[in-house]
Amino acid sequence: MSGTLYLCATPIGNLDDMTFRAIKILREVAIIAAEDTRHTRKLLTHFDIHTPMIRFDENCKSIVGEKILSQLQAGESIAVVSDAGLPAISDPGAELVKLAVDAGIKVSPIPGANAALSALICSGLDTSKFLFAGFAPKTKKNRREFLQKLSGVDATIIFYEAPHRLRTFLTELAEIFGEREIVLARELTKVHEEFLRGKIGDLLEKMPEPRGEYVVLVAGSKISAEIPPDENISAVVEKFMADGLDKKSAMREAAKIFNVSRREIYNKLLSLEL
Ligand code: SAM
Repeated sequence: MSGTLYLCATPIGNLDDMTFRAIKILREVAIIAAEDTRHTRKLLTHFDIHTPMIRFDENCKSIVGEKILSQLQAGESIAVVSDAGLPAISDPGAELVKLAVDAGIKVSPIPGANAALSALICSGLDTSKFLFAGFAPKTKKNRREFLQKLSGVDATIIFYEAPHRLRTFLTELAEIFGEREIVLARELTKVHEEFLRGKIGDLLEKMPEPRGEYVVLVAGSKISAEIPPDENISAVVEKFMADGLDKKSAMREAAKIFNVSRREIYNKLLSLEL
């Protein structure tokens, strides 16, 4: 019989968030596959866990993945942990799960801390519908395309971002999303935990130099849910104009909703007028 692949959550800052079950499973499994063994060693030492570890990160995932798979098939259970939170969420693990699922091996979660959901539940934004977008691409062109595609989503959007890229990210977010409500969830579960809430531009002005870890949450687009696509482009432009925007700005806002360029909106309006 094959072993079980456990996806094991670890704390995102506060060691007290480690669960009893995580400690038990990490003690019981044959091997712990860790994103960074030196980092995880500290956690294991703290909880008196002496299970052997194997490194499993982006660079070695295919070789180690196969090795882990054959051990699971040989009947050993293995736990995957990342540096913080849930493995496979903006962290290694997803490929391993795919390998195990394809091989008919049991995969089981050991739930616990996660930055995205911890931020969402305290954000004050709509929690009934949300989209986890993870890290934005690093190159400007890809990042802008990525944000453009998300700008019309009518659900709370959750991003992860590194502190040294946060200002650039928020500046581009403001350009593409307009003046949306956002929440910056900083240093969750740690001593300097804080939530900054407001319009993107205001927060950019008020915010001190970003330090620590951040989750960025953005309120969903209000209009896209109400307005069906394409033939109603003119209705959207008219709605924005009725709300006080000039035609150029109204087309720019409509372009964000329909995820097209302003030029395309302009052309569409021309064709509708014919
Ligand atoms: N797997 C993790 C999880 O389940 O949340 C996420 C790992 S991802 C590599 C790291 C990113 O998560 C950070 O750049 C930050 O955006 C977010 N993050 C992790 N811990 C955080 C914390 N304590 N407070 C705020 N954001 C955090």
